[in-house]
Amino acid sequence: MSNHPARPPLGAHRPTVGGLHTAWASADEIGAEVMQIFTSSPQQWAARRLDEAALAAWSVARADAVCRRVVAHSAYLLNLASPKPETHERSVAAFTAELQRCQALGLEGVVLHPGAHTGDGEEAGLERIAASLRAIYDAHPELTVPTLLESTAGSGTHLGYRLEHLAWLLAAIDRPGRIAVCLDTCHLHAAGYDQGWPAAVQAFIDEFDAVVGLEYLALVHLNDSKTAVGSRVDRHERIGDGHLGRASFATWLRDERLRQVPMAVETPGLENHGEELVLLRALAAGEEVDDG
Ligand SMILES: [Zn+2]
Ligand SMILES: [Zn+2]
Repeated sequence: MSNHPARPPLGAHRPTVGGLHTAWASADEIGAEVMQIFTSSPQQWAARRLDEAALAAWSVARADAVCRRVVAHSAYLLNLASPKPETHERSVAAFTAELQRCQALGLEGVVLHPGAHTGDGEEAGLERIAASLRAIYDAHPELTVPTLLESTAGSGTHLGYRLEHLAWLLAAIDRPGRIAVCLDTCHLHAAGYDQGWPAAVQAFIDEFDAVVGLEYLALVHLNDSKTAVGSRVDRHERIGDGHLGRASFATWLRDERLRQVPMAVETPGLENHGEELVLLRALAAGEEVDDG
């Protein structure tokens, strides 16, 4: 008999205001089994320095925590697809530093938005992302923490809004074990992959398996969407309050193929995440599925 519940590990993004180590207690407070953090301010190029004291505090807090799993989300400013040499070089340096922090902290992955081509064309942008990641991995064989390419809403010139982009990148980067995928239910819906009802969610998971492969799915961001299908606008909403609805989340949570895939919320209001997890656990158990 296994003690593991018949559902994916569930968790949430957690704040790190008092230092990275404080995220562990914050994860335990809401009963998160997996947490996501920013290792540095997501809107700034200058990264937080991880000194010996910060690493020691991290290890102590981790050993004390019930939560065992942790990933990071990289900074929003990074753009590995940028055709501007200065922005591109800065992005490569910043993502390398992000991988170094994640490796030092012993994280199981780091989420990355693939990038925006800013007018240079999708093919050129995708090629630049693949070349950048290959170069980083080749220059730093010690950085084994996997990059999780995230599906995007496709606003502006952002790439990664089609499953074909993600599949192309995985094949072109060709570094098994160092690259995988993170899906975001809000982004998928905004990108035009209807998440508004259970049969559509099921069909999407089948399509993902056919185009990318479920073996590459390392993380799911469970977010409802304030915007309609195909809007290309990324606005997260609380679980059940947006265009997706509770039954769609229940479908994600109850698919037997996804029981090992950690799922985390990034819904508005960090203070609501405990409640969100209570609802998600109920949905996973087949309760509370009716909206409202
Ligand atoms: Zn993201
Ligand atoms: Zn988003």
